[in-house]
Amino acid sequence: MLKTIAVMTSGGDSPGMNAATRAVVRTAIREGARIFGICNGYKGLLADDLFEMNTRSVSDIIQRGGTVLGTARSKEFETPEGRTMAYENLKKRDIQGLVVIGGDGSLRGAQALTEEHPIAVVGLPGTIDNDIYGMDYTIGSDTASNTIIDAINKLRDTASAHQRIAILEVMGRRCGWLALIAGISGGAEYILVPEEKFDLDKICDEISEMYKESRKRYVLIVIAEGAGSGIEIGKIIEERTGIDTRASVLGHIQRGGSPTMVDRLNASLLGQQATRALISGVSNVVFSLKRGAPVSVNLHDAVTKKKRLDPEYLRMAEALA
Ligand code: ADP
Repeated sequence: MLKTIAVMTSGGDSPGMNAATRAVVRTAIREGARIFGICNGYKGLLADDLFEMNTRSVSDIIQRGGTVLGTARSKEFETPEGRTMAYENLKKRDIQGLVVIGGDGSLRGAQALTEEHPIAVVGLPGTIDNDIYGMDYTIGSDTASNTIIDAINKLRDTASAHQRIAILEVMGRRCGWLALIAGISGGAEYILVPEEKFDLDKICDEISEMYKESRKRYVLIVIAEGAGSGIEIGKIIEERTGIDTRASVLGHIQRGGSPTMVDRLNASLLGQQATRALISGVSNVVFSLKRGAPVSVNLHDAVTKKKRLDPEYLRMAEALA
């Protein structure tokens, strides 16, 4: 059994990271382990910015977005020398295990650390992108998709009033999950994602037809940033169709906000599972959910294999538009 562990949040922040931190800290203490909090991810670990936590340290945070532990990016940690220094800062406090809450980059960092040094690591997927292999949930993805749906609803009102085309660009450089899920749930006519080719000429022709035949009063298009710039695509569509088009870029609003019930509950559940497992000797595992059930994914697989968009959702997006 591990006697002392540590927790960090790293990389891009996501709503629910605090709920996960709270669950990790309280589970560790309940299981009889000491727990250190690492401030500002790997950067803080290298700066020796650690403090011992107790149950009170995580009071009043379950409802907050962002992360009270802070997060950062660290180039130095990407070098073996940096990771040795990071390990030394853990070793001098007798920390034997680490819970990393972060996206694929942070989990990759955790894997490099445990490969090179005798430290156990478990991961909790903290990212709004839901782009990690082997699971269909990441902490923050529910809150972010609901934020997008809220924006879609508002755009729909104004687009409908003016019979315009409304375009919403959302986050997702390599993965279109957010655009796809929020687009389907928001009733978008078109959803453009980096994983799927699209034909802009065809889209323009179809929209022109829809307006001509009065089949649509307005059209809503959701674009993942990795599929192209919403502003640029909007200009092209307006030029080719002659229909008034407005593009909005949602930006960092998607990252913030109080986490939804789903993100709070799942972060609590996964935080508890990961911590219990780590203390009992488990390492190299990322904890999440698949089809609603708990799943533990090998850390190496989670950071090396590519997650694909669910083809059923892709078909649905087209069929219901
Ligand atoms: P996210 O976790 O949100 O994907 P990043 O990709 O920025 O965010 O990763 C966060 C941090 O994890 C980086 O700043 C770096 O310190 C560490 N990291 C990322 N990739 C690696 C890697 N291949 N090896 C070691 N550390 C890494």
